Amino acid sequence: MSATQDPPPRTGPIRLGPHARAALRPTADPVVAGGFWARRQEVVAHAGIPQGPLLLESAGNLHDLRLAAGKATGEFRGDYPFMDSDVYKWLEAASWQLARLHPDSPEGRRLADDVERIIGLVADAQQPDGYLNTWFQAGKGRGPFTDLRWGHELYCAGHLIQAAVAHHRATGREQLLTVARRFADHIDATFGPADSGKPIDGIDGHPEVETALVELYRETGERRYLDLAGYFVDSFGRGLLGGETYCQDRVPVRSARHVEGHAVRQLYLLAAVADLATETEDAQLRAAGERLWSEMATTKTYLTGGVGAHHDKEEFGDPYELPTERAYCETCASVASIQFSWRMALLTGSARYSDLIERTLFNGFLSGMSLDGERWLYINPLQVRDGHTDQGGDKSARRTRWFRCACCPPNVMRLAASFEHYISSTDGRGIQLHQYTQGTFRGEVSEAPVVVSVNTDYPWQGRIAFTVDESATDEPWTLSLRIPQWSSGFTVQYPDGALDENTAALDDGWLRLTRSWKPGERAVLELDMEPRFTQADPRVDAVRGCVAIERGPLVYCLEQVDHPGGGLDEIVIDTSRPLTAKHRPDLLGAVTTVLAGGHRRAIPERGWWPYPSSDTAEFVPRENGAAAPIELTAIPYYAWANRRDGSMRVWLPTS
Ligand SMILES: [Zn+2]
Repeated sequence: MSATQDPPPRTGPIRLGPHARAALRPTADPVVAGGFWARRQEVVAHAGIPQGPLLLESAGNLHDLRLAAGKATGEFRGDYPFMDSDVYKWLEAASWQLARLHPDSPEGRRLADDVERIIGLVADAQQPDGYLNTWFQAGKGRGPFTDLRWGHELYCAGHLIQAAVAHHRATGREQLLTVARRFADHIDATFGPADSGKPIDGIDGHPEVETALVELYRETGERRYLDLAGYFVDSFGRGLLGGETYCQDRVPVRSARHVEGHAVRQLYLLAAVADLATETEDAQLRAAGERLWSEMATTKTYLTGGVGAHHDKEEFGDPYELPTERAYCETCASVASIQFSWRMALLTGSARYSDLIERTLFNGFLSGMSLDGERWLYINPLQVRDGHTDQGGDKSARRTRWFRCACCPPNVMRLAASFEHYISSTDGRGIQLHQYTQGTFRGEVSEAPVVVSVNTDYPWQGRIAFTVDESATDEPWTLSLRIPQWSSGFTVQYPDGALDENTAALDDGWLRLTRSWKPGERAVLELDMEPRFTQADPRVDAVRGCVAIERGPLVYCLEQVDHPGGGLDEIVIDTSRPLTAKHRPDLLGAVTTVLAGGHRRAIPERGWWPYPSSDTAEFVPRENGAAAPIELTAIPYYAWANRRDGSMRVWLPTS
C-alpha cells in the first residue's frame, strides 16, 4: 500500500456479505473516545491483552503448539482438548486492539510482535493437510475427528477462523487467514451429508464453527463456507451426537420451542442461525431466532442479563428457574448472548435486542472482569451468602487470576476490544445508535457519508448530546436513538431548540429524528436516571417478595464490606423510603452509589429452627423489639468482588 492511500475502512466482527438481507448494517470506523467504556477498554488494553502471552505460556497453551510443531518435547499440558481456543481468542482480542494502535507506536510494535510470534507458532503447528488441534496431535485421543462429542476440534477451528478474520480486517495481513482457510478447507473436505461422498456426516459437540464459517464466507467470498455452515446448523437435532440436549442435538433448531442445554453452545448456535438467516433470507431460520430469543429474554434471563441457571452441565434450566446464589451465568454465556442479540438487531432492526445487549454489557458481562482487568469470574451469581465457604477454583465466587478452563478471560478481552462495533448501524437512510457512549459514529444516506459524535457521561448521567459532524447530502435523514426499555421518561431537545418531554412517539423502541441535518446541528436526549426498585415476574420463586435496585442500565447490589454490624442476609429493605443517588469519585474507580433505607431482622433468642409453624414464624427486630433503621449503600453489580471477600446480594427482601 502506498503512503498516500487511505487505510481501508475499519470493520468489526461482522461484515455482511453482498447478498445479505438485513434491516441494518454495522458501520465502519466507529470510535469510542473517553467515558465509561473507553476506560474499560483501556484496562483490557493495558492489563488483560499484554499479559495474555505470559499467561498462555504458563498455562501450557503455547507449549502445546510447539509440541505439535515438533519444536518442543515433553507432555501435553492442560486438561482440555480446547486449549488452542484460548490462544485464538487472545489473538482475536489482540487483533482488534492492534486496529486501534498506531503501527509505529512502541505499544503497537510490541503487541504486533507478540501477535506475529504466536501466529508463527500456530502456523508451525498445523499439519500439512490443514488439520490443527494440539490435543489430538499430541496423541491424547484416538485420532482426529474420532470424538466429535467432546473433541472440540471444530469449536477450536471456529475460534481460529474468527481470530484470522479479525487479524485480516485489522491489519490486512494474510498469514493467519491462510492457516484458517487451510483448516476450513480440510473440514469442508471431511464433513458433509451422507450422500455427499465426504468421509464424515457429523457435527461438533460445541457449536462455534458455524458462525465463524459464515464470517469466513463474508471475508473471502467463498460460498462453500456458507454452505458448510448451513449443513452444520441443520445437522444439530438429527441425533448425530446421540440426541443430547447438552450438545443441542435433541431437536432441530428450526422446530425448537425453547432455548435449552449448555447455554454457550445454544447461543453460539443461534448466532449462526441469525447469520444464515441474514445471508440466505431463510425465513424459517429467522423465525427460529426470533422465537428462541424471546423465550430466552422473557423466561430465562437474569436481571443482570446473565443466562444459565444450572451449574450442572452449564444449562439454561426451566422457565423462571432463576436461583440467585446458584446462578451459573457463565461470563462466556453473556458474551454469546450479546453476539446472538447483535446479529438479531441487525437482521430485524428492532431495538429490543440492543436493550438486552445493554443490560448484559453493563452487568453480567462486565462483572466477569475485575476493575483492574487482572482477575476474573467464570460464574456470576446474584448472591453470595453470609458464611459462604469457597474452595476456590474455576467456579469460585472469588476472582481468580486465570482458570484451569480459561474460556472466559480471553472471551471478555475479544468483546471489550471490539466493543465499538456494537454501537451503531446504518440502514442507508441514516444512523441508528444502539448504545450510548462518548465517540464518533458513521452512517450512510443514499451512499453519502454522515457522521455523528456523541458526548455523554453515561451511565452516570442521563444527558446524551449528539452533534452532526458531517452530512454529505441535502436529503433529509434520520438519527435513530434507542430509548431503553428501563426508561420511564425522557426529554429530547431538537436542533431548533424545541423541547419534547415524554411525548415523542417511539417506533419499535426507536426515537426517530428526521430532518435535513446540517453539520454542527445538535440534539440532546435526557434519560430519566432516578434510581428505581425492580420486581421480578411472580413466577421467579427465588426472588418472590424481593426487590432489586437499578439506576439507568446498571443493576445494583449490596456488599458486606459496606454494611458492618451484621450479615447481609438479615437485611430487609424499606421500599417506603426514597432511593438517592450519590456519586463517589473515591470508590471503585468512581461510581454512583444508591442509598436506600432498611433494617435488620434477627433470629429470636429461642433460636430459629428452620421450619417453625407459620403462626410463630416471624422475624423479630434486633434491638429490643424496635426495628433500628439502617442506611444501605448499593454499588453497581459489575464492580462487586473488588474489595474484601464477603457476602453480596442483588435481590433484597421487603418484609
Ligand atoms: Zn467461559
